[in-house]
Amino acid sequence: MVKGQGVKLWDSTGKEYLDFVAGISTCCLGHADARLIDAVTAQLGRLHHVSNLYYTAEQGKLGEWLVQNSVADKAFFCNSGAEANEAAIKLARKHAHEKLGLDFPVIITAKASFHGRTLAAITATGQPKYQKGFEPLVPGFEYVEYNDAKALKKMVRRINALGRLRGLVPGKGRKGVAAIMMEALQGEGGIRPGTKEFFKVARELCDETGALLMIDEVQTGVGRTGKLWGYENLGGIEPDVFTSAKALGAGVPIGAMMCKERANVFKPGDHASTFGGNPLACAAGLAVAKAIEKDGLVTNAATRGEQIRGLLEKLQEKYPTLIQEVRGWGLINGVELTASSGLQAAKVVQACIDDGLLLVAAGTTVVRFVPPLIVTEAEVEEAVRRFGAALEKVSKA
Ligand code: PLP
Repeated sequence: MVKGQGVKLWDSTGKEYLDFVAGISTCCLGHADARLIDAVTAQLGRLHHVSNLYYTAEQGKLGEWLVQNSVADKAFFCNSGAEANEAAIKLARKHAHEKLGLDFPVIITAKASFHGRTLAAITATGQPKYQKGFEPLVPGFEYVEYNDAKALKKMVRRINALGRLRGLVPGKGRKGVAAIMMEALQGEGGIRPGTKEFFKVARELCDETGALLMIDEVQTGVGRTGKLWGYENLGGIEPDVFTSAKALGAGVPIGAMMCKERANVFKPGDHASTFGGNPLACAAGLAVAKAIEKDGLVTNAATRGEQIRGLLEKLQEKYPTLIQEVRGWGLINGVELTASSGLQAAKVVQACIDDGLLLVAAGTTVVRFVPPLIVTEAEVEEAVRRFGAALEKVSKA
């Protein structure tokens, strides 16, 4: 790829694409957005990096915007989603040691989840294919079926009961649940929205045990789901900690870990990042915040999301033997291909690329649609038309 403008990209042969990948759910303002260019170039000419030894207004303002527009009280800045989750995992462990008196804190995550590629993040990721070859993994993680409230309850009770027993054995520390860490909607795992019932139980279990409810909003955050944060789709539950990256800088690398004051056990020096929250990245974050507010991008994500699901459902009616299910929130949607068709998502994605539409698979049988939040009605229509044509072509091949 050599050039972009809005929702379009061009490759080195001059071929044009409609970009419904957006740098994997990242370029929320599309490509070559004038506001982002102006903000970042002006910042580059003024002050781009001073390290975390000093306060900068840009970081302060972005932190302020995040806490004013979420349930969080504090924000820590880093450079990626994996780093944001790493910070959350460290916070949960320190919180468990200091506030819950646990010697061996356990973090429960979901099967089929994805939390990034650092060692702790691949361990948190409940998919062996990302862990294979990198053992030994980080201790202190257990995996539960996503959206299975009964299994989650059972797991929390089992770990905490075992912990109490272990505490009685001299020399063995107290084991217990430090946190439940989940995506609001599983992205890489196949675009599976979380259920209100599951997250209600997760919240209750955390309230009961003192564990932290941590929501990974790396893919779902910053307007993607038709709400500013994915957890807003979950019936009013509030996380103690949540993480963001991807769309937060619209493609300029930045990550953030946000938490409630009651979960904040970090003292200066406990955790840090040289680049994290530098003025350049925060200027990008502030440009995103401004564009979201001025252009109503969250509302656009909700409206265009309804449009895309409506059109994809019509395709499902047309091709019931090829499309199993259409699911998602706002502008993060997935088309699950039927098992009986034998179609692989990667094959359908390749046929779309050939026809000038960029899509990306989420697992082996789900095709993901995550366009920029600025996408128009006409672009959505055209994308679904190209997808339908590609699907038909592949199914006949
Ligand atoms: N968490 C979720 C839910 C993600 O989807 C991703 C990336 O796809 C990550 C974490 C990792 O983010 P990064 O690639 O910026 O480290």
